Amino acid sequence: MTTQSLQVDGAEVRFSPGTAAIRDVRLTLTPGKVTALLGPSGSGKSTLLRAIAGLERLHGGMIGFGGEAWSGQGAHLAPEKRRCGVVFQDYALFPHLTAEKNVAFGLRSGSRREKQTAAMEGLARVELTHRAHAYPHELSGGEQQRVALARALAPRPAVMLLDEPFSGLDRRLRAELRETTIAALRAAGTAALIVTHDADEAMAVADEIALMASGTIIQTGAPDRLYLEPVSETAARLLGDMEAFDATVAAGEALTALGALPAPGFAEGAKVRVLVRPEGIVVSGGPDGLEAEVLNRRPSGGHVKLDLRLPDGRTAQARAAITDTHASGDRVRLTMDPRFARVVAF
Ligand code: ADP
Repeated sequence: MTTQSLQVDGAEVRFSPGTAAIRDVRLTLTPGKVTALLGPSGSGKSTLLRAIAGLERLHGGMIGFGGEAWSGQGAHLAPEKRRCGVVFQDYALFPHLTAEKNVAFGLRSGSRREKQTAAMEGLARVELTHRAHAYPHELSGGEQQRVALARALAPRPAVMLLDEPFSGLDRRLRAELRETTIAALRAAGTAALIVTHDADEAMAVADEIALMASGTIIQTGAPDRLYLEPVSETAARLLGDMEAFDATVAAGEALTALGALPAPGFAEGAKVRVLVRPEGIVVSGGPDGLEAEVLNRRPSGGHVKLDLRLPDGRTAQARAAITDTHASGDRVRLTMDPRFARVVAF
């Protein structure tokens, strides 16, 4: 139901005249869906989150929820009037309140008894019933984060915003907390936006990823589609490793040292870039392909990563099966798997 989604349309925020921290941002958050906002530091992720929460005013565009104007075009609904829960990086729990009281604090209506019941239900959803009476300083970082999540979810917000919620935790705890968080968000059926600068994390948690660079969203889509079909070199690099080759379009194909790739939509003679993920650079095992030298072989999970030197002197990375026995100094032939390659504008 589009009417019950959060719409950001052309949003702009400026902290100083002439420079926009975010500009022309378009984004839709749908109930029950987790969207990851992925981008490098300084790209405007927190500013967008704060604008949705009502903590920053818009200088252009609008933000609305289900037909209700939240920001822009003369409107600015107060943060507490937005059906919007926020979890910040530093948890921001009240130090003098127990876990249960922290969660109850998020509830605006109901008797004391009702609030207590709802707070305990909230703590149960994040598996913290046994820590209800602990104070924040008695809780681990992961537990504090779960209390912050329960507190933000308690008033049943339509939209949940989480700013780098797993940073500052060790790897194992991160993975565990991610699972709990996503399960709680899905159970609540809220539209969720998780800010992260970690591509693997975005891929792991999100139904949809919005890629942010230089203050604007450059591509939105399902994680696998974004990985395989980046619209630009910038978008491709935000999601993972890749090699880029210059090419010229001839007879509808982009010709690279690794082979030709169909280039629909590009004019004859156009200069383009061919982007290839490491999975798309294949050690052919036969006489065909581009000759390269293996510089280094590094096992990684069920694969080996081969660092290679190409004939033009540049280095590239290929991924091969763990059974591949090539070692440093070997000469190999490389071909391209077109499923992992994409032609974009130069
Ligand atoms: P991210 O969350 O992606 O790291 P931010 O939204 O924090 O990026 O910042 C985007 C840009 O806006 C940066 O250039 C940052 O320096 C600037 N900025 C953020 N907040 C403020 C502020 N309160 N005053 C001035 N500039 C700010």
